[in-house]
Amino acid sequence: MANFIPEETIRTIENAADIIEIVSESVVLKKAGKNYVGLCPFHSEKTPSFTVNPDKQIFHCFGCGVGGNIFNFLMKQDGMSFPDAVRMLARRCGIEIPTPQMAPAQKRRISEKENLYALNRRIMEFYQHMLMKSTKGDKARKYLNRRGMTDRIIESFKLGYAPGSWDSLVKVFSKNKMPQTLIQKSGMIVTKENSNRTWDRFRDRIIFPIFNSSMQIIGFGGRVMDDSLPKYLNSPETPVYNKSRSLYGLHAARRPARVDKKIYIAEGYFDVLALHQHRIANAVATLGTSMTAEHVRILKGIIGKQGQVILVYDSDAAGIKAARRSIELFKKEYVDARIMVLPTGHDPDSYLLEFGSERFVELAGHALGIIPFLIDSAVKKHGLSIEGKIRIIADLLDTLAAIGDDVERSLYIKDLAERIGVDEVAIIEKVRKISKSEKNKLQVLEVHGKNGPVDKKSSGGKGIRLEKQIIAMLLQFPEIVPEIIKRNVIDHFEDKNLRSIGKMIILKNTAAGEKKISGSERNNSGRIADILSSISEPEIRSTVISLIIEDVDWDQSGCNKLLTQFENSCKRGDNDLLKEIRAAENNNDHALLLQLLKQKQIQARKKYLVKNTKVNHDKLVKSRI
Ligand SMILES: [Zn+2]
Repeated sequence: MANFIPEETIRTIENAADIIEIVSESVVLKKAGKNYVGLCPFHSEKTPSFTVNPDKQIFHCFGCGVGGNIFNFLMKQDGMSFPDAVRMLARRCGIEIPTPQMAPAQKRRISEKENLYALNRRIMEFYQHMLMKSTKGDKARKYLNRRGMTDRIIESFKLGYAPGSWDSLVKVFSKNKMPQTLIQKSGMIVTKENSNRTWDRFRDRIIFPIFNSSMQIIGFGGRVMDDSLPKYLNSPETPVYNKSRSLYGLHAARRPARVDKKIYIAEGYFDVLALHQHRIANAVATLGTSMTAEHVRILKGIIGKQGQVILVYDSDAAGIKAARRSIELFKKEYVDARIMVLPTGHDPDSYLLEFGSERFVELAGHALGIIPFLIDSAVKKHGLSIEGKIRIIADLLDTLAAIGDDVERSLYIKDLAERIGVDEVAIIEKVRKISKSEKNKLQVLEVHGKNGPVDKKSSGGKGIRLEKQIIAMLLQFPEIVPEIIKRNVIDHFEDKNLRSIGKMIILKNTAAGEKKISGSERNNSGRIADILSSISEPEIRSTVISLIIEDVDWDQSGCNKLLTQFENSCKRGDNDLLKEIRAAENNNDHALLLQLLKQKQIQARKKYLVKNTKVNHDKLVKSRI
């Protein structure tokens, strides 16, 4: 297709725009040498691998591989088409895009999105006019004043009023002869199926235009002024309106949230406005949908790694519901999310009116993290009778199982156990049963190499992951212990901690075997409790707990496969070293060569030792027989 924006203009725009400035609107960037780095907005990460080079005007993520120029960034980040991205930047830089000899056919090709933005702006202006300048808007103006909305807020959020008749907007459209298909796409007019009958989607409602980060209007929300239902109505998704990546008020909240490293998520549009009214401008609301991973990523880009998201609710029940729904999202993105429940009978508006913004911020400072909040709520709800304790654990199992971080999960389990006076191992066992999910089956697939390359970053390389799997197997499938002893697997472990854990488990097992204890499920719990009780180091303890929880259904052949894979990976390690030695020789890198040879020596010595202990062990076994 003929691109109607001349290549030359595109280059001018690219040179004029500042990639750092554009990216900074959605990612917190820090200078690092020639580059700037930040947390990637396109994948979950804890440490920044998203890099922007201002000289070359490009970005690249070393975590997920996404990269490109400023246009690519906007296309990926805001879901724009290429021409849209070019035009948006042109507007920002004040560069005019020449539109010579445009044929009608070409005109039609001009992005549908641009037209929708323009149409939405006209709709906004119409509703704004109805609110501020028309007698029809009297009631709405009074309503807003009664709710304490100042002219400043009404103007800066471009609030409007949709009159009560069925065809106010329909008439505006027909008077201005706007294309029917575009009107349909905007979602602001409803058409009866198989007929030409159309009517306004919003009638007798306060209108809240929804802006994107470039201050274009992407959609609308409408709220009734009495108790009729639905209280809130939203325009449907369109080519420019994606609810799972849009937030109400974000255009105004972005800057203060970045400075404050904190953002409030309120329940409704009026809550956001009330917060703004009281000079708490870092507040947004979702648009009639639950939080999505994209929302969380967008917010993380603004508040940064150390930032805080505070979900504000006016009742415990709403808070608990939201906490349960969003816990995995926030955990997955490593975002510190807190739940703030206002005192009974208050919403943000009434609370701020009565107590002021200072008290609000202070209350927010005491907001609990999602899991402590859920634990707290469960204890409050059920009490500490025996039945209460049972219900508390039942309530929290899914939550505990959903925590991805091993250390964190074991700490919360320990905390809960102490708080309600229940044995920690009993809770671990229950969480383990829940965790026997698809997720873990997937992990086994990965270990067995069916899923292609393994993410090396996640837990210290593939070798360590295999070692962890072997420990999990030892914990979960005691029948494999003799085989592990026979193959002398544990001595080959690279990871010191895992090696000592492995040895300890084997020791416990052999001791138990001598006492002739059968390997039933019940005794396995006893065995695990025994193993846990002999570990005092918290790091090692949580590793073991995570391996108990990340349980899979082991069988003899799966175990043997895993052991063979581990042995092969050890051999590969030897070969890699030989290759490196050869390369160092060829490159005349004497320092490296010396180092590698030393390594080889250590390895050889280790192998000798291992071989001998194996022989000794075999002898020992034979002499016992
Ligand atoms: Zn990335």
